[in-house]
Amino acid sequence: MSKTVYIRTFGCQMNAHDSERMMGILQEEGYFQTGNPDQADLIILNTCSVRQKAEQKFYSELGRIKSLKKRRGDLKIAVAGCIAQQEGKKIFRRAPYVDFILGPQNIQKLGDLVSGRVGPIAIEDNPAIALGDIPSRRTNRVTAWVTIMYGCNNFCSYCIVPYTRGRESSRPSKDIHSEVVDLAGRGYKEITLLGQNVNSYSSDTDFPGLLRRLERVGGIERIRFVTSHPKDLSQELVSAICELPKVCEHVHLPLQSGSNNILKSMNRGYTCDDYVKKVSLLRERSPGISITSDIITGFPGETEGDHLLTIKALKEIEFDGIFAFKFSPRPGTTSAQMQSQLAEGIKSERLSEVLDVQNEITARKNKSLEGTIQEILVEGGSGTDKEKLTGRTRTNKIVNFPKVDIEKGALVKVEITKGRQHSLEGKLQEK
Ligand code: SAM
Ligand code: SF4
Repeated sequence: MSKTVYIRTFGCQMNAHDSERMMGILQEEGYFQTGNPDQADLIILNTCSVRQKAEQKFYSELGRIKSLKKRRGDLKIAVAGCIAQQEGKKIFRRAPYVDFILGPQNIQKLGDLVSGRVGPIAIEDNPAIALGDIPSRRTNRVTAWVTIMYGCNNFCSYCIVPYTRGRESSRPSKDIHSEVVDLAGRGYKEITLLGQNVNSYSSDTDFPGLLRRLERVGGIERIRFVTSHPKDLSQELVSAICELPKVCEHVHLPLQSGSNNILKSMNRGYTCDDYVKKVSLLRERSPGISITSDIITGFPGETEGDHLLTIKALKEIEFDGIFAFKFSPRPGTTSAQMQSQLAEGIKSERLSEVLDVQNEITARKNKSLEGTIQEILVEGGSGTDKEKLTGRTRTNKIVNFPKVDIEKGALVKVEITKGRQHSLEGKLQEK
């Protein structure tokens, strides 16, 4: 008899893709996916612990699920992802109704865990994860995430990822290449290469070498990647990004702060000046390239002067968009133990100042695209308007335009008619 699984994903693209891979494994065990936790035989919460907020969301969801388990004793509950790795057995103590605990370095064991062949907890360090193939069940039919490396060695002082996802290990380029060839054969047009720091990818080739190899895969029209670490953005990588036609003109390059003192205390390994030089090089070699970033406000010891340096950097660099977060002390990280923690009110105030400055820049940049013709990869119907299709520019901006009879996965030319804060409106030029 078939079984059903409900997966709730918290956090980043890496987690979203881990959920696709968990579904790939469970499919082989005879499971079907459901969007309704009430109907599921198995519920998986794929968790994130990068910030406290994501952690709180998980614990409230876990509380809600308890009542389902009370009603249906045969329901199985699994906690996966970064909180599973970090808390391990403590989750059983806090929530005895949880059946399995699965860390991100052990997702290939999910099948064995749910079928009782091993278990009930799999959180060992496992750099060998990069050497095996894990099936994926992707829901999107046009764009696909492809993991190229696991873990992180950077130990930014605020970040929990090196503790939950372990040391850096890269997949062999031939395995990545085969996965991309297979995706192309199944009609995928765009791939996004995933890693905490893709610039330090290193197996039988480096990251620029990997991009050059994937560029030759027929059928794939666009290659994207996240995330790049500024300290590892080399001249060779800039050349590969700018020379390879399929590599899209967008780099997500987290700055985190405009203050050198804070960058040092974050252990980021670059100064604001180094960063600005790299952005100038990218813009010189690829005019119109889009650059997005992450900013943390209210890091321990951040003075008003440091904060103003971040505001100054935002105004000077003019990012296409940013994700900004209040500093969240993560247990076990160096910066959580720093003496000079700031009050929540200051962190929030600085966050809204950062967002106000950036929103104005993003809106202005989007407006400046009005009247231009952009290549859009059609991803499907718009989520907010049934009469519209949606897709992205090569620079990763969302464009909505009136529905016409074209297939998902088509590359079309669209004239931008309106630049909004979070998206663009357009009209189709030609098929
Ligand atoms: N590996 C990527 C990098 O180095 O940029 C990012 C990984 S992290 C999951 C994504 C973003 O979350 C970071 O760029 C940072 O801005 C933010 N972040 C990480 N730890 C944080 C913390 N303790 N408090 C607030 N924001 C945090
Ligand atoms: Fe975290 Fe820094 Fe590694 Fe990114 S590079 S995952 S921010 S430790």
